[in-house]
Amino acid sequence: MLYSKLVEIYEALSANTKRLEKTKILADFLKDLHESDKEVLYLMLGQIYPEYSEKKIGVSHQLAIKALAKATATNEKEIVKEWKNIGDIGKVAEKLIKTKKQSTLDSHVLTTEKILNNLRKLPELEGKGSVEKKLSLIVELLTSASSLETKYLIRTLIEDLRIGIQDSTIKEALSQAFFDKDKEATKIIESALDKSNDLAVVFKIAKKGRLKELEKVSIEIGKPIKVMLAQKVKNIHEGFEALGKPVAIEYKYDGFRLLIHKKDDNVTLFTRRLENATKQFPEVVLYVKEYVKGDSFMLDAEIVGYDKKTKEYQPFQAISQRIKRKHDIEKLKNELPVEINVFDIVYYNGKSLINEPFEKRTAILKKIIKNHPYKIIAAKQIITKDEKKAEEFYKKALKDNQEGVMMKKLQAVYQPGKRVGHMLKIKPEERDLDLIIIGAEYGKGKRVGWLSSFILACYDNGKYLEIGKVGTGIKEKTEQGVSFDELTKKLKLYIIEEHGREVRIKPKLVVSVTYQEIQKSPTYSSGFALRFPRFTALRPDRNPSDIATLSEVKKDYEKQKRNWRYG
Ligand code: AMP
Repeated sequence: MLYSKLVEIYEALSANTKRLEKTKILADFLKDLHESDKEVLYLMLGQIYPEYSEKKIGVSHQLAIKALAKATATNEKEIVKEWKNIGDIGKVAEKLIKTKKQSTLDSHVLTTEKILNNLRKLPELEGKGSVEKKLSLIVELLTSASSLETKYLIRTLIEDLRIGIQDSTIKEALSQAFFDKDKEATKIIESALDKSNDLAVVFKIAKKGRLKELEKVSIEIGKPIKVMLAQKVKNIHEGFEALGKPVAIEYKYDGFRLLIHKKDDNVTLFTRRLENATKQFPEVVLYVKEYVKGDSFMLDAEIVGYDKKTKEYQPFQAISQRIKRKHDIEKLKNELPVEINVFDIVYYNGKSLINEPFEKRTAILKKIIKNHPYKIIAAKQIITKDEKKAEEFYKKALKDNQEGVMMKKLQAVYQPGKRVGHMLKIKPEERDLDLIIIGAEYGKGKRVGWLSSFILACYDNGKYLEIGKVGTGIKEKTEQGVSFDELTKKLKLYIIEEHGREVRIKPKLVVSVTYQEIQKSPTYSSGFALRFPRFTALRPDRNPSDIATLSEVKKDYEKQKRNWRYG
């Protein structure tokens, strides 16, 4: 397909801010799209492979600027200067090509195949000489692009397409294009997308109008799925009211989530961001092989760290560094040991269990796991109708240094990717939120050179809304915890605009913060502000879309008001 055709769609989508219009543009595009062009849909989302794939474009701003400089024979410094003026590097590229390239514009037409072909080579390149090779692959594309195409090519490279489409728009567009917006069909499409994480596959079946076949799209061993998420309730009583009786109650372990896949002798570990973490946790692989029966399975688990001497369970921060670590794995494994707490099973011996009730899944789980405390256990659980027993269990969980409890409806199915009302979390009142960094400011005095104040945002329907600034809780020295230096290095990769000391940052880095109070505020786009926010941890295991939503913030605000009234 001609890239110019896709660019037309990008432009139409960016020009229309209304969701219904965006859906229509997308639906029309999908109707016209030939099956053999289905991989264009990855580009449509600013990607080169399906969502489940680990291979990402991975081009830094610096490299994009270098390529642009080379393709247009412009000085890099000039481009950086323009970038600071205009903000969006895509627009800088568009302008540059317009003024510089007219005379050299060759007769090549850029196709989506060519783009996919070149961009897919990028993640394969590593080591010596790889930067040069990457540069030439990118420059080749840039030199055959028109100015408008360059804008989107550069944005694709830095993974910031800015066309404002959400997952929900895509599922609605598919439904509109092929099933006349039928509500049932929309649900089936959504579920097929959540299970496969592959838009092209779902498109191909939907285009044929085959709902039954869409229903059969299933989870597969070796391919990560989005996990099921919990909702919050205030206390055990509220949990019983929502779920009925009896319910399963489990310890809520404070670690991070891993989906454990096994087929024959192959164990693969995926985070909830669909990233492969197998290499980082060799002992998890070993324990699963030794202590879980079955030829093939997919387990949902929480990995918790404990002190190697005292065996006391540690909060998430203690082991968070293991998730992304590529070196010294053996050393880290001994220093920061972990226990696997398995709480669900979604596939067993060749069959998906996601449509089976929790009661059945948890029974299978208990049968196949041989508990070995400090290695692997089935999550501590009781099934009860009795609120008193449930309260006692909750207290015991807290005494055992865990975060709280989860309450689960026995009849409920497993819904990948959904925050469901049949799995509830209960924690003692703690004022903490997971938020995302979307901006920052360079420091002064002894913090010069570091980003030192960070703009936090919550999530609302595809948008990130500001809710405060944090600088407290971050350390000046690297040894003491997360430092300004470390954060600055991480965030620099994601800077998309610079204005003086202030920078705008691509929403990538999820952090946990505590606060003293939520106030209404006209200053921030969320309408709320955190008083005395304090940074507590980086959450490399969490997705940008997993952070606190505006409605959760509102709920916490209301709850705090109620407590003032009565407390
Ligand atoms: P939160 O992170 O506060 O949204 O709480 C939900 C998370 O608790 C899940 O995503 C899991 O990572 C974790 N978790 C810990 N223990 C359990 C359990 N027994 N069942 C389900 N999730 C659990």
